[in-house]
This record gives sequence, C-alpha cells and structure tokens, in this order.
Amino acid sequence: MLQTLKSLAHSLGFDDCRIAQATRAGHADSFHQWLADGCHGDMTWLARDPLRRSDPREVLPGCRSVICLALNYYPGSSPFPASSDGGYRIARYAWNDDYHEVIEKNLAALDGALRALGGVQRCYVDTGPVLERDFASAAGLGWNGKSTLQIHRRLGTWFLLAEVLTTLELPPDPPLADHCGNCTRCITACPTQAITAPHRLDARRCLAYLSIEHKGPIPEEFRRTMGDRIYGCDECLEACPWNRFAQASADLTFQARTEIFGHQLRDFLTLDEDGFRRLFARSPIARLKRLRFLRNVCVALGNSGSPDDVPALRLAALDPEPLIAEHAAWALRQITA
Ligand code: SF4
Ligand code: SF4
Repeated sequence: MLQTLKSLAHSLGFDDCRIAQATRAGHADSFHQWLADGCHGDMTWLARDPLRRSDPREVLPGCRSVICLALNYYPGSSPFPASSDGGYRIARYAWNDDYHEVIEKNLAALDGALRALGGVQRCYVDTGPVLERDFASAAGLGWNGKSTLQIHRRLGTWFLLAEVLTTLELPPDPPLADHCGNCTRCITACPTQAITAPHRLDARRCLAYLSIEHKGPIPEEFRRTMGDRIYGCDECLEACPWNRFAQASADLTFQARTEIFGHQLRDFLTLDEDGFRRLFARSPIARLKRLRFLRNVCVALGNSGSPDDVPALRLAALDPEPLIAEHAAWALRQITA
C-alpha cells in the first residue's frame, strides 16, 4: 500500500512523499509561547484553537498517520536583472498561479485512492490547522532550518508543503538530522532582523508578513528596508546554501507570468479595481486586493523610483483610499528629498 501511495504521489507531480505518525506536534509548546508573545501579529487565525493545531488527532478523530508532501515550485532566476530600471521583486511562489488550487486538485486524487482503502482523510495546503513543519521533520521530509523554513536536501527551501491526515495506519519514515550546522546566513541576511533567534521568527518584523498579511500602513521603520519588494520576501531563502542544489520546477504553472512582469513598477498605479482583478486573476497576489498592493507599490517606488515616477505618484496621492494616498505621499517625499 505504501509504495502504491508514494508512486501515486510522484505521478501526481509531488517531488517527495513521506509519512509521520499522528502524535502531538514536536514544537507545540514553543508555538504556544510564540503566540503568547504576540509574534503572529495580525494573523489571528493562528491563535484560534491552538490545542487543535498542535495535534492532528484533534482535527481528524482516529487520525493515525500524516502523509507529508513536497512540491518544488522553484521558477528559476528573476525576470529582472539586479537593480533594473522599473523592476521590482515578488516572492517566487507568487510568480504565477495560486499554488493552493494547483495542489488541492492533486490532494483530492490522493484522498480518493485512500478512501478506496477504507481511510478517512483531511487534506491541507499550508493554511490548515496543522503544525506542518513538525510533521514534515518527523517524516524526514527535510528539517526545520534556523530561518524556520523547511529545508529539503534536494529541493532546498523552494518547495511547498502539503499534508493528508488519514485514519489509515501507515509505517512512518525515519526523521532526518538537522544540517544547518554552524551556518547563520539566513539570520544575517534578513533585512529587518525578523529571525530573532535560531528557529524563531517575529512575524511583526518580517517583510513577507508586512507586505502580505498586514492590513494597515507599513510601519515607517520598515519602509526603507522593503526596498523594491512588492509581494513577500525571498531574502532568507536566497541566503540558504542548501538552495545550491535547487532545480527549476518542471511544472510550468510556476514560471513567471509575462503579463505581470511586463509592467514597470509605476504602471501598477494606473490599475483600477477591475484592472487589478483581471491582471492578478488566479494569482496569490489577488489576495492583497488593489488597496494593499498599491500600498506596497508606493513603498517600492519611494525606495527605487526616479523623477519619472512623480506624475503617477502625484495621482496616487489623490486616491480616495487613504492607505494608498498616504503611501504615495511618503514615496513622493523620498524621491524629491
Ligand atoms: S522573509 Fe525576509 S524579512 Fe522575513 S525573515 Fe525572511 S529575510 Fe527576514
Ligand atoms: S541559511 Fe544556514 S542556518 Fe539558515 S536555514 Fe539555511 S542552512 Fe540553516
């Protein structure tokens, strides 16, 4: 049964598939402390029912095994050469379609196969109530790096995790040792010192959190360090030496979308609600909505823009949305200073 399951996972496009026993998550206590310290910022869903999140048996009664899956999404190098005029940075996982949709289809196929064997399943892609990296580590699907990212020996950090909780008893795979060693490159590379200690991330300082999850204004102390990032941050991933083994994903769904990357930074300021929806249809960036996306674009223009960007920013400073208008005014001050 196990080999059939793993072969099916590979035929569905997953790069690795390993099994962990369904027990209490290894880092449940430190997760509770992290929540108590407020490091999750506005991500209130993480604090909802933390006991359930710490044990898959609370999510799926009778759960015996956690099937951990990895999907390589590495799309290769940036469409823009470093510091190219009008360029910007978007976290690689968001260069094309929303991966949740891509993976959920494949998880449904795995669920079907396990149901035929008498199993009851719950399938999750990173948003589920499961401390997924603990189970991935227990299953030997890489180890949890000091950056808090999961690291796979072959895929580096450029992969997505998904899991299937099942009532079927499957033989667990052995864990893999931590191979971070003395390295601290991710901690040093983080532009905002968000990795406050090995294996501990203060989301409130993290540019990925601030540019995606955070709904209000970008705090002034982080605006300069956002640089030309308009969605997420890949700095700690790029710093990780384990990524030297990464190969571009065979799945073309992850390749950079030319219609998005054909835009110069200031072009995004001309998007109205309809234009935004059309351009980012099926993209993870759609989650931001025009409001937060233009907030980020204004910050990036304030950091990397030129006098050519001033007319577009002046119009944005008149936007009826105060969040956009305030960030555009900030960007104008940076450029004209
Ligand atoms: S994503 Fe960026 S800001 Fe967040 S921890 Fe990594 S390097 Fe730091
Ligand atoms: S950069 Fe170094 S310390 Fe950080 S996760 Fe990668 S190997 Fe571990």
